[in-house]
Amino acid sequence: MVGDGVKIGLEVHCQLTSLKTKLFCSCPTDYRGKPPNTNICPVCMGEPGTLPVLNKEAVRAAVMVALALHSKISRFTYFTRKNYFYPDMAKNFQISQYDGVGGAPIAKGGYVDLGNGKVVRIRRLQLEEDPARLVYEGTIDTATATLVDYNRHGVALIEIVTEPDITSPEDARRFLQKLRSILEHLGVFDGELEGSMRCDANISLEGGVRVEIKNISSYKDVERALRFEITRQSSLISRGIRVVRETRFWDERRRVTVSLRVKETEEDYRYFPEPDLPPVVITDEFIDEVKRSLPILPDERKRIFVEKYGVSEQNAEVLVNDKALADFFEDCLKHYGKAQELSNLLVGDFLAQLHSLNLSVREVKVKPEYIAKLLRLLDKKVLTGHLAKAVLREMLETGRDPEAIVEEKGLRRIGSREELEKIVDRVFRENRKAVEDALVNEKAVHFLVGQVMRITRGKADPNLTRQIIKNKLEKVRASRKA
Ligand code: ZN
Ligand code: MN
Repeated sequence: MVGDGVKIGLEVHCQLTSLKTKLFCSCPTDYRGKPPNTNICPVCMGEPGTLPVLNKEAVRAAVMVALALHSKISRFTYFTRKNYFYPDMAKNFQISQYDGVGGAPIAKGGYVDLGNGKVVRIRRLQLEEDPARLVYEGTIDTATATLVDYNRHGVALIEIVTEPDITSPEDARRFLQKLRSILEHLGVFDGELEGSMRCDANISLEGGVRVEIKNISSYKDVERALRFEITRQSSLISRGIRVVRETRFWDERRRVTVSLRVKETEEDYRYFPEPDLPPVVITDEFIDEVKRSLPILPDERKRIFVEKYGVSEQNAEVLVNDKALADFFEDCLKHYGKAQELSNLLVGDFLAQLHSLNLSVREVKVKPEYIAKLLRLLDKKVLTGHLAKAVLREMLETGRDPEAIVEEKGLRRIGSREELEKIVDRVFRENRKAVEDALVNEKAVHFLVGQVMRITRGKADPNLTRQIIKNKLEKVRASRKA
């Protein structure tokens, strides 16, 4: 079957966006939007006679991440030169870390709990500098020119490498979402910033070999890229064609992977200890100090949502997987005490509508008080579920008070029996065939309810409408028997 025996490992690069300066120099990290090649200095450009100086805050941030991922922190950590020529690297090598002879990454081991019964083990965490940004004229495989912008070059990255424990594209996406949420809870990372999280994926299928996919820039794309690759590889395997061990590039515009080169091996990089930087000693005291400053993390927060507020496990997991959503939930909870009902609205219609409006939670302009008001309008039956959806939509688009929207647009629920009976009479007159069906087939009642909804534009109380229709059908039946 397609997708059987899938093994996926991820290498995630996250910028430590909370840092003020780059990893080895004092250039600022807010390079976004600056004119190309203006956010640089002789150190990050690797000019002769300059030396790198390690940003201590980067070590602190990396130790925070290591603690949050349950990793074992190295007491001595080294920087390593990864040698290769590429225009995105001013020095022809990247100052990185290496897990092997002569190297020691900042932490090893650990895990991320996906919250769906699956756990992904972490292989290692390392600090390294971000390369420059390449701007292609055209697409990467047909580019007529490539421009280099070094503004980003030297920004601190934490690279997180997983074991190949992920078994589906959905779980790869889940992993990235959970990781993003953990890093955002730590306060070291802002996933909303363009290009702040990038990922490469290794994927192999039963009977195939490992293929690496580069240039995945969002957790939405990781799922797409891996789906594409599973289809491509399983179609090759099923036709008896050998899958080549290679590196492929995710073209997010065309949504395909493209062959880049035959996979390089570790030896090709000629890793050796960075002679310009001394080893870093991480003391127990430092680790303890960082540990004491750790904020609440998603898994602990989920436990509180479930045990203290009474939210279902499933809803709690969705809430904490997006820090902004979990924060918004808690803000709303101050104004509306029924936690489970509130969570149902947020993980249901709220997220669905944000998705269709292409908005993130942080872009939402609706005040928490207004979400509380909307829920109370539902409780008081001023709104039906259907109407609440329409009001919520308007709230998300304009940020307005739901009561004002209800008044202005006349979106009140029709709960008057008298009024609804008149509309049902009309529906029965206009749909004689459907009435005959409904007399013998329970399912056809649904159609009649739908007609009432159509006439009232969704304002009719659905339960009352159904009840009136059923009574009327009963009367028809009785009159025929007589
Ligand atoms: Zn610099
Ligand atoms: Mn890397």
